[in-house]
Amino acid sequence: MSDINLYQKTKILFYRQKMLPLRKYEFYGMTDIRIGNGYDVHALAEGLPLWLGGVRIECTFGCVAHSDGDVAIHALCDAILGALALGDIGQHFPDNSDEYKGIDSKILLSRTMALVSEKGYRVGNADITIAMQRPKLAPYIVRMRETLAGVMGIPADAVSVKATTTERLGFVGRGEGCEAYAVVLLCR
Ligand code: MG
Repeated sequence: MSDINLYQKTKILFYRQKMLPLRKYEFYGMTDIRIGNGYDVHALAEGLPLWLGGVRIECTFGCVAHSDGDVAIHALCDAILGALALGDIGQHFPDNSDEYKGIDSKILLSRTMALVSEKGYRVGNADITIAMQRPKLAPYIVRMRETLAGVMGIPADAVSVKATTTERLGFVGRGEGCEAYAVVLLCR
């Protein structure tokens, strides 16, 4: 299935869900909410493409990975899977499987969102922090938010992406790797 079809499918599932009638706990003014957190880290190496938050970053180096190495999406998928108590990204998309070799992480996010819909939830909001010494990620933040929101079928103002350096401290500060943290709220 192409990326576009996966995005459309996720959107359709999302809109269908919104049209469901009020559930019992909503009637009583209660909402069923779940929280999840995710973390991922990748080593950096020269000559590889750098993908973050579904966006290609202009850079001479990128993440060493089995997939496209999008550390932000991987942390986000893990946060979603955590909220659903469905294990982790490695269990769902094994990094020793040929199916996932070089895969666009947006497809992994789409598939993770399908699990959200299957379980009857929708994403309330997501907040991601990327830690990287360089390059400056500020020019890409809006595109990352819009891209991730598009894949998840939610408004861009429900997706936050933040970037920080580690003040040259540790492996991130030395430019040996980058990491991402994500928190997500699911509701139904
Ligand atoms: Mg990863």
